[in-house]
Amino acid sequence: MLVSAKEMLEKAKAGKYAVGQFNINNLEWTKAILLTAQELNSPVILGVSEGAGKYMCGFNTVAGMVNGMIKTLGITVPVALHLDHGTYEGAKKCIEDGFSSIMFDGSHYPIEENIAKTKELVALAGEKGISVEAEVGAIGGEEDGVLGGGEVADPDECKMIADLGVTMLAAGIGNIHGKYPANWPGLRFDVLEKISEKVGKMPLVLHGGTGIPADMIKRAISLGVSKINVNTECQLAFADATRKYIEAGKDLEGKGFDPRKLLAPGVEAIKATVKEKMELFGSVNKA
Ligand SMILES: [Zn+2]
Repeated sequence: MLVSAKEMLEKAKAGKYAVGQFNINNLEWTKAILLTAQELNSPVILGVSEGAGKYMCGFNTVAGMVNGMIKTLGITVPVALHLDHGTYEGAKKCIEDGFSSIMFDGSHYPIEENIAKTKELVALAGEKGISVEAEVGAIGGEEDGVLGGGEVADPDECKMIADLGVTMLAAGIGNIHGKYPANWPGLRFDVLEKISEKVGKMPLVLHGGTGIPADMIKRAISLGVSKINVNTECQLAFADATRKYIEAGKDLEGKGFDPRKLLAPGVEAIKATVKEKMELFGSVNKA
């Protein structure tokens, strides 16, 4: 059964570790992540962007697939199905379609409008026990065509949004989506510390987990980050393993063209990436 992200993240914050959000794109992705979480006895958050939701034929289809897998694979660790960077409309749809967690990314609205829309979604989600992530300070990266340092959130704005009753808060601290440029100055721990002081017990979320050095990840966790989003890294691992399989001509040997064989190395690569992240984040055996 799907659960909200609230309890798992509050436990993570208190226990000084982080739960990984791994974005899914299809059946193989989902299965690889769920099996790894179960094997490592770790809580897990499955992230679905609006684009990935469309690709997988709608949020209702995704919820159906994930619920089916949890049952058939005998998954007993806590699993949250979470909308990643949701629009106002997308968040409402996910609340109807069986997601257990949503992110409303209102960071591009003026703060007043971000607050009004976040409040409304908190009330709607609250009726169904669904957790809500809000964002302050847009996180840069290729997603919005900006390559370079991400925006840095204002700790007072973070406090304002945190007080609306959201479950967790994503705050820009120089992190970006996708690959980091060679001249990236690193995370703004000074800002993270101030935000942490302002928001108290509220779990903080770090987006753009791909390519942030392990020591920075650990320091961020020690300063209150309890959810870390991983997306690009699984994509790179999957593509690399698939390319190697084809370049080695394995699809031309026997029934190597069978999609279940063709996609298998990529699935194993996703599993290895998820395992590595869960170990780094400290969520192993925290289910
Ligand atoms: Zn993000």
